[in-house]
Amino acid sequence: MKPKSQIVNLPVYQPGKPIEEVKRELGLEQVIKLASNENPYGSSPAVLEAITKELAHVSLYPDGSAVELTGVLAKHLGVERNNIIFGCGSDEIIALITRAFFLPGDETIMADQTFSVYKSNADIEGAVTIEVPLQDGTHDLSSMLAKINDKTKVVWVCNPNNPTGTIISEQELVSFMDRVPAHVMVVLDEAYYEFVTDADYPQSISMLDRYPNLVILRTFSKIYGLASLRIGYGIARPEVIDLINRVREPFNTSRFGQVAATAALLDQPFVQECAKQNASERDFLQSEFARLGLPFFASQGNFIMVDLDMPSKDAFQSLLKQGIIVRPGFQVYPTYIRVSVGRPEQNRAFVTALENTLAEKATTSH
Ligand SMILES: *Cc1c(COP(=O)(O)O)cnc(C)c1O
Repeated sequence: MKPKSQIVNLPVYQPGKPIEEVKRELGLEQVIKLASNENPYGSSPAVLEAITKELAHVSLYPDGSAVELTGVLAKHLGVERNNIIFGCGSDEIIALITRAFFLPGDETIMADQTFSVYKSNADIEGAVTIEVPLQDGTHDLSSMLAKINDKTKVVWVCNPNNPTGTIISEQELVSFMDRVPAHVMVVLDEAYYEFVTDADYPQSISMLDRYPNLVILRTFSKIYGLASLRIGYGIARPEVIDLINRVREPFNTSRFGQVAATAALLDQPFVQECAKQNASERDFLQSEFARLGLPFFASQGNFIMVDLDMPSKDAFQSLLKQGIIVRPGFQVYPTYIRVSVGRPEQNRAFVTALENTLAEKATTSH
């Protein structure tokens, strides 16, 4: 057998540790997972009801074009139905874009560090990834612009950026889009859109009129609390949606994903409450980091990158032993961990554990 040469040495994605596995391995009763930016409040109660009703249709294929959900989402966003494409998570939209656009040797530009799925999909297609260092944890759009050439197909802008949580403003985005040549697609990943509280955050959908090369990604996995059901979406001009649609599998989202997303969308008070809780708990964690003298990136998402001034794997192990799972291992930031913003009691338990970890570090380094 002879696989595509570019996939042979691809790393296998390392997900956050599942709670059950950690409990078993360490014999812990209670484990708090703050590693995957999931919604700590679950999902809207309307979701459970919608899924329960849908159980009767488990033997039937889903609606491949998700007609009902598309209508509800189009109305919610103020766009037309043909501006929307659904994926098995927005991860799949990323894969579909690379599948539809990249030939081996094409170039693609992204931040270093950002969401790893862009690069892994580009690698699979044999495209060359140009990584542009973040500046103070933020996309350096002018340096990214300077890397564009005739071979560039896609520039990825993760806003807020995962893992740093920083945003670029509307003004910065507009000035960037004005300079990006028409042959280059800009993918604006807004997985954490609903958590943003900064008034300078771009109103990206209204920019689609001006920029035919813009694609916006959002998801039901984060604030809507549907990570397990795998449903996300892309928003773009109809002609771009049409191209991406050509490489989509006919039944790429499930019945459960579709009905759950519809119910979740219709319960905006739940979303608003989660966003409000997240903002105040994000403030709490950031003020605790400041109290402990720990540098961090000011976050607009539901996670924070904080510098513990020790190898992040050691911090991870120390917190894990205390029943807290966080995310270590970001290459560019070897002493930082990313922690998701949890419920109030989870965040307080995390801070207590963190203080133990820091005290442990202080004694072992003497
Ligand atoms: C979580 C996340 C996604 C998408 O997740 P799906 O579950 O596949 O919808 C996309 N981009 C970023 C930056 C994320 O953090």
